[in-house]
Amino acid sequence: MTFQQVYGYEPAVRYSAPGRVNLIGEHTDYNDGYVLPFAIDRRTTASIAPREDRLLRVASAFEPDAVHELSLDALSPEGMDGWSSYVFGIAWALREQAGVSLDGRTGFDVFIDSDVPVGAGLSSSAAIECGIALALSDLWDLGLDRKALARVGQYSENHAVGAPTGIMDQSASLLGEQDAVVFLDCRTLDTAVVDLALEANGLEVLVIDTRVEHAHATGGYKARRDSCERGAQVLGVSALRDVTVEDLPRAQELLDDETFRRVRHIVTEDQRVLDTVRTLREQGPRAIGDLLVASHASMRDDFEISVPELDLAVETAMQHGAVGARMTGGGFGGAAIALVDLEARDTIAAAVTAAFAEAGYREPTVFTVHAAQGARRD
Ligand code: ADP
Ligand code: MG
Repeated sequence: MTFQQVYGYEPAVRYSAPGRVNLIGEHTDYNDGYVLPFAIDRRTTASIAPREDRLLRVASAFEPDAVHELSLDALSPEGMDGWSSYVFGIAWALREQAGVSLDGRTGFDVFIDSDVPVGAGLSSSAAIECGIALALSDLWDLGLDRKALARVGQYSENHAVGAPTGIMDQSASLLGEQDAVVFLDCRTLDTAVVDLALEANGLEVLVIDTRVEHAHATGGYKARRDSCERGAQVLGVSALRDVTVEDLPRAQELLDDETFRRVRHIVTEDQRVLDTVRTLREQGPRAIGDLLVASHASMRDDFEISVPELDLAVETAMQHGAVGARMTGGGFGGAAIALVDLEARDTIAAAVTAAFAEAGYREPTVFTVHAAQGARRD
């Protein structure tokens, strides 16, 4: 299905934005900490044409034959539902969050197509938001920089869609560069692009999508956030970012066992992100394997957001020679990543698939991703 088939004429412009993989730094974003995602070579494309009236029309290959409409005069979260709120929400958030006046602006027709797997923890949601945000910034000549657009995307996801997520996904989708990771300080929103240099080192990243849906994700995610907030409160800091590894013995005395383990994950994970950045800069990607594995163990044992399928994916990849592996994304399902030698890739992929069959799990989807350029006009 195409724009032409839906609307009967050709689009004026095409924008695309990528999904992302988080290399390391999980659940640290809402603790004001550090994350290290990269944009992937799986993209969502928005084909767009401006209209002369105030109407917004959106369609997606995702839901053939449906065209959702909303007027710029009627933008409010209450008037949006389903996937179209990922598009309408951006126009609304431009006004609400970035203070853009929508008076006198004209609407648009948009058609969305994507090869980012949906709901696999690769942020198909940010891919759609960021492509639309960049497109509207251009169409309406807003001159907003990419960090401002990331905040608009996050605001829309939080308040129009209603998902309480951090700013990592939008930052990766907008600021990503080829063969590089985006080091993001979620407190200051400072970013630095760090060379990943996988190709030069004969490495690749395998994504193992367990296809376990984040069934309890909403409840589990909120419970983890609550634990982190409780921990920060007892420890007298505004966010767990302000707790260091050296503070952990004292934290253990003050906190109940479960809250302490949640806190320990965040504190050690922040340190692992910093260590990963330093290691990438000083020694290259082959040296970060232990950090990835330690991150997985911390999510499995302390933060308790892994599932048996993710653990099996990580263990099997490591047994078959991966340099490192960990679950990625919010957890309770979704995908794991494995850093692998090019030559070992197929063996590892086959071993994971076989191990899943053996365990009686649903067949995983295994594919390679490369660190790719962020949102752009195509
Ligand atoms: P993830 O971001 O991990 O893929 P989310 O639940 O955050 O999972 O976002 C997935 C939702 O984003 C989908 O359920 C749908 O509403 C919307 N979405 C993503 N890609 C598309 C698309 N190509 N067309 C329409 N809606 C999409
Ligand atoms: Mg998402």
